[in-house]
Amino acid sequence: MQINITCPDCKKGEVPIETNLFVAGAAFTCPQCKTELQLATESIPVAANGLEKYSAYREKMLELKEDGNRPDF
Ligand SMILES: [Zn+2]
Repeated sequence: MQINITCPDCKKGEVPIETNLFVAGAAFTCPQCKTELQLATESIPVAANGLEKYSAYREKMLELKEDGNRPDF
């Protein structure tokens, strides 16, 4: 899954991040200021766990949609 996040350094650049690679520790560069965004090593398991839960949540929502249920938020 690819997302864009606003650069925390210059607050101008939109950094395209491939979440699967990001949680695996890959670095992504801000197109504006060239700052590298990378997870701290100790954050990787936390982020990976969070992404896993988010993916499971999305899958569950898709299942519900297929069943014709539309949960309200
Ligand atoms: Zn930047």
